[in-house]
Parts: sequence; structure tokens; C-alpha cells
Amino acid sequence: MKKSLYFTPGPAQLYPTVIKHFQKGFDLQIPSISHRGKQFSEIFADAATGLKKLLLIPDDYHIFFVGSATEAMERTIQNCVEKYSWHFVNGSFSKRFFVTAEELGKQPLSSTVDSGLGFDFKHIAIPDKTELICFTHNETSTGVMLPTKEIEKMAKHYTDMLVAVDIVSSVPYVDLDYRLLDVVFFSVQKGFGLPAGLGVMIVSPRAIEKSEKLLEKGISVGSYRGFSSLLAFANKNQTLETPPVLEMYVLGKVIKDMQRKGIEVIRKETDEKAEMLYDFFDHSDVFSAVIRDKKFRSRTVILADIQKVKGNLEKILLQKGFIVGSGYGIHKNTQIRIANFPTHSISDMKRLIKALKAV
Ligand SMILES: *Cc1c(COP(=O)(O)O)cnc(C)c1O
Repeated sequence: MKKSLYFTPGPAQLYPTVIKHFQKGFDLQIPSISHRGKQFSEIFADAATGLKKLLLIPDDYHIFFVGSATEAMERTIQNCVEKYSWHFVNGSFSKRFFVTAEELGKQPLSSTVDSGLGFDFKHIAIPDKTELICFTHNETSTGVMLPTKEIEKMAKHYTDMLVAVDIVSSVPYVDLDYRLLDVVFFSVQKGFGLPAGLGVMIVSPRAIEKSEKLLEKGISVGSYRGFSSLLAFANKNQTLETPPVLEMYVLGKVIKDMQRKGIEVIRKETDEKAEMLYDFFDHSDVFSAVIRDKKFRSRTVILADIQKVKGNLEKILLQKGFIVGSGYGIHKNTQIRIANFPTHSISDMKRLIKALKAV
């Protein structure tokens, strides 16, 4: 069967070197090694320190490996909130973060806007009692990306509060000042182009302190993946449970590949590809960009309205070897979502645009 190129926003097209690294990992029998041995500790350290170098994460921050980004939301709330979290909700993933807090018995508050919108940050006042502010940097369901400057401004303004940022569909493109943030998390099946099954949390010393305070008060912060447990094992470059060792090995390798390419090159190419795609949509008679406000247009998950397309777009694109994401939820048949991740080369994007032009 002819292979397709996936422009879906997760799971996504694999990063080009992923298969080679898995093959090497099998050759080295990595799935069978003990997660208490030296070889595993090296794999853990390789991935964690590689990530810190790639994204310029401060040395005293901790890298924790969990199961998924959805799990990371739960761990974040459990470990950083006694009662009050504040959420910027503008789509399904930010909503999930909010609902997670409710489900854990907290009392979350939110600034909620309609699908496709960003926030008027200047006019939002977060109540003093708030312990944690939660942002979804790139709302994958709607194609809205929040300006990092706005997130950082908020973090600087509300210094007493912890700040969490979901960067699942914008990493490694997103360029953050981690010093201002406390929990930043992602899963690996989007921007890093790995198979799903691994979540990564970047955690500040302040967030660890908060978790310890909750524990002292007798509040549950979870069991084997409470921050103190995660930290005790991370300090030994280990995890308490048996982790997906091969996946962690490949993550470390892909991070090295990206370092070799250069994070600045990756970011520049992402901007360039996003520009090409938006430029096409803004001048097309058939497609139009869903997000009108350029300030909030995602660079990594780009949505188009397809209601003027005649025929079955999915089928037409599939015949040319492309799979794009369908619209989210109620927009399933009226929009498409196109991922613009590091795995997609400039020539891939040009070929996709050519195929869209022919529709
Ligand atoms: C995909 C996604 C998630 C969920 O990731 P999982 O790995 O499926 O848990 C969370 N937040 C955002 C913004 C996403 O795009």
C-alpha cells in the first residue's frame, strides 16, 4: 500500500528519524533491559537533559515522565491546587483541564470564550485566592494560539500564583521563559512525532514546594505519581513504575536530531510554512482561514473552512497521498485541521498546498 503523509494534529506523521531509532533500539534489546539498571538511567538522563538543552529549561527544574498529557493535567491539579485554579478556556483541551479540576473536587474558576477566540488579557482580573493559573498555549481543537508574551505578562503580574501551560501541540516550536512558569507539559505524539504513550512534565522547584505543603496538610496529591514520588525517582534517573523504555530512548534520540538541526531553524521553518498556508487560505475562493484575528492564529495547527469545497475533500486528498485532520466536534464536516510540525518539510507543505489548490 502506498504510504500517506499525515498532516493530522495528533497522532501525527512520525518524525523522519523515528523508525530508524526504534530499529536500533530493538537491535540493542532496549525493551528488555531493567529499569533499575545503569543503561536505563542513561536513557532517562539523555532524554531529560536533552530536553532541557533544546528548550532552554533552567537546570533546577525537574523533568517527569508520565503516561499522557491528559494525565499531566490531573497531576498538575492534584499537586498544585488545594481549592482554587483559574483556567483560560477556549476549546476542548482547555475545557478538559478545567473539568479535571472539578472532577478532583477542587473549585476551578475560568475565563471562558467561544470556540475560535482568544482572550482579552488586559481586562481579565484573576481573584487573589487563585493558587494556579492554567493556560492551553495552543488550543488544538480550534486553532487558537495564545501569544507567549501574554502568558508571561500574566505570570509576572500574579507572582504569588503558580502557572501551568499545556504545550502539547506547540512544542518544540513554542519559545517560553520557563523561569516564569511552574508546570509545563506535553505528550510526544504531536510536535515530536513519536508514537503515543508518553507524557512529559517540566516542573519548577516552587511547584514541588506547593505539593509538599499540600501533603503536610494531609491533602492527597496522588500516589505513585505525586510530585514527591516522581522527584525521588527522577533524582535517580528512574521511574517508580516500569516505563516505556524504548519510547524514552527514541525521544532522547529525536531531541538530539532536533538539536543538530537547530531549534531556531525549526521555529523559522514552522513560521515560514504557516505563512504559506495562511497566505493560500486568505487568497483562496474555496478555502478560508477559520481564525480571523491574526494575533491568535496558531502556527502549528491551522484550520480552514471547507464548506465551499465540492466533493469529498478527504477522498480527493487521500488519492494524492495526504491525510489532514477533520474539524473538531461539531465542525467535523465543515473544517479541516492541518498540522504544521517539525516533521513536515517545506516541500511537503508546498505539495499539500498544490493539492489543495487543485480542488
Ligand atoms: C492532544 C492534546 C492533549 C491530550 O494529549 P494526550 O496525549 O492525548 O493526553 C492535551 N492538550 C492539547 C492542547 C492537545 O492537543
